[in-house]
Amino acid sequence: MMHPVTASSDASRGPVPQRGTLIIVSSPSGAGKTTLTRRLLEEFAAATPGLAFSVSYTTRPQRPGEVDGRDYHFITPAEFEHMIERGEFAEHAFVHGNRYGTAQAPIEAALTAGRDVIFDVDWQGASALAARWPNDSLKIFILPPDLDILASRLRTRATDAPEVIERRLRKAIEELGHFDEYQHLIVNDDLNRAYSVLRAVYLTRRFGSADRPDVAHRLGELAAVVEGNRGSGAEAHARRLVGRA
Ligand code: ADP
Ligand code: 5GP
Repeated sequence: MMHPVTASSDASRGPVPQRGTLIIVSSPSGAGKTTLTRRLLEEFAAATPGLAFSVSYTTRPQRPGEVDGRDYHFITPAEFEHMIERGEFAEHAFVHGNRYGTAQAPIEAALTAGRDVIFDVDWQGASALAARWPNDSLKIFILPPDLDILASRLRTRATDAPEVIERRLRKAIEELGHFDEYQHLIVNDDLNRAYSVLRAVYLTRRFGSADRPDVAHRLGELAAVVEGNRGSGAEAHARRLVGRA
């Protein structure tokens, strides 16, 4: 049976742009989400339809090498309070004793224009964003190969004081406990392998899994990478890490 032609599929109006997606990436501190999300941005920020990083607001001190407005908007606790009072946050949370929040307006504007937005937020932020935009959200969790490697990556990064690193390690187990709230789990053992999975997850969400003449990426192959990752035992690995095995 033919389906009736609806107003939204009327060719005279031109194609309706696909709404953008919130690509929400979480992990315990040090597991590699910043490295992986930066790489996805490097590859796709200038592509069509475009991928942008959601620059959060925070009250934590700026680290060497971080740029205000690129990595975070660094603001005072009083400014953060004002933003809450004005209802400007889609979500906000305390993480490691500091405040972090995501502004609502830029996200809604990007999604409506068909652009994807990538987020580096903790499990609380991920949960709040997915509740606010249930149909637009894709939640991805990055797992460390093991907890000793996580500790050594945090120490090697050397961007935090020793007592801050210890606090982050204690919090890592709490964050790991939320792995089952995510649609995809990626073990960041080898960086190139982990990136190839993240890339495949992103592209199949954006363009589907069947190859299309208008899309240069080999979507069938990418879908196989996503399937392979599902069957790779990442879930059992996550359970072992949180001591649930
Ligand atoms: P997060 O954003 O999750 O806190 P980062 O991306 O800052 O983590 O990574 C923490 C440290 O580990 C960085 O020094 C980074 O270069 C390093 N790193 C990330 N992924 C890998 C990997 N697969 N192998 C080795 N080192 C890695
Ligand atoms: P860091 O201080 O290492 O940059 O980030 C600490 C934690 O805060 C990370 O788990 C990061 O994902 C999280 N985070 C960063 N921005 C936000 C935000 O806007 N909202 C929430 N809920 N968490 C955030």
